[in-house]
Amino acid sequence: MPELPEVETLRRALLPLVENKRILGIRFFRKDLRFPIPQDQIKVQVINKKTQRIVRRAKYLLLQVETGSMLWHLGMSGRVIQKNTMDPDEPHTHAIFHFEPDTFLHYIDPRRFGCILWVPASEGHPLINHLGLEPLAPDTTARALKQNARGRKASIKSFLMDSRQLAGVGNIYACESLFKAGIGPKKPAGNLRLKDWEILLQSLRETLEKSIQAGGTTLRDFFNTDGKKGYYIIQLNVYGRENQPCPLCKTPISRIVQIGRSTFFCKSCQRI
Ligand SMILES: [Zn+2]
Repeated sequence: MPELPEVETLRRALLPLVENKRILGIRFFRKDLRFPIPQDQIKVQVINKKTQRIVRRAKYLLLQVETGSMLWHLGMSGRVIQKNTMDPDEPHTHAIFHFEPDTFLHYIDPRRFGCILWVPASEGHPLINHLGLEPLAPDTTARALKQNARGRKASIKSFLMDSRQLAGVGNIYACESLFKAGIGPKKPAGNLRLKDWEILLQSLRETLEKSIQAGGTTLRDFFNTDGKKGYYIIQLNVYGRENQPCPLCKTPISRIVQIGRSTFFCKSCQRI
């Protein structure tokens, strides 16, 4: 499933292809993905308009034109591939977007859990309106996180994965950044000191950035043919390594279940 670093890698790869480029045409090949595609609305709003910016919120990409944004989500199995044709040439191609002068982006999603929607500038959209702070945004600070976590008895692990607090942090990145920061996953979020938040935010950013770097800088790098992408490439210290030795202290890695998800951690190294 595409995680935040993959979507950010895709955004960076798309930047030179779509920013300040006019959208010349769109073809849709389905009425719906996870949700109905508002085809007519999207065509009216974006065709012959310039994409001013492409921004990411959690795992959503927003291609902003003057009146709003076209929202893309890749679901479980979605990809966006650059091709030379306005015709679909592989199965599960659900939409094709033509950007000037000759960029054809094919949206392909075998399992169809993704979505293509229209977000009016004035209203936003329920999928993104309640998202919390972006971990990579410069204006997300340790102080703000500490403030938001004040009095919270829920664990720091569940806080990291709560999209109303932090947008788009998946299980792997929550586990790995808690390990890097030396913070126990069960610690109540409200008990972290400012210094702990500083270390944790830095660890989270480093973990995400490392994965983004591993994803490459072009669409071709990003969706390489062997299907390996994003987090498969970064070294995992604790995630998926139950009972294997901790890379720092050799203690066997522990696994517990928190809010229905596995948490992997080292009980010796993560003592804060
Ligand atoms: Zn350890």
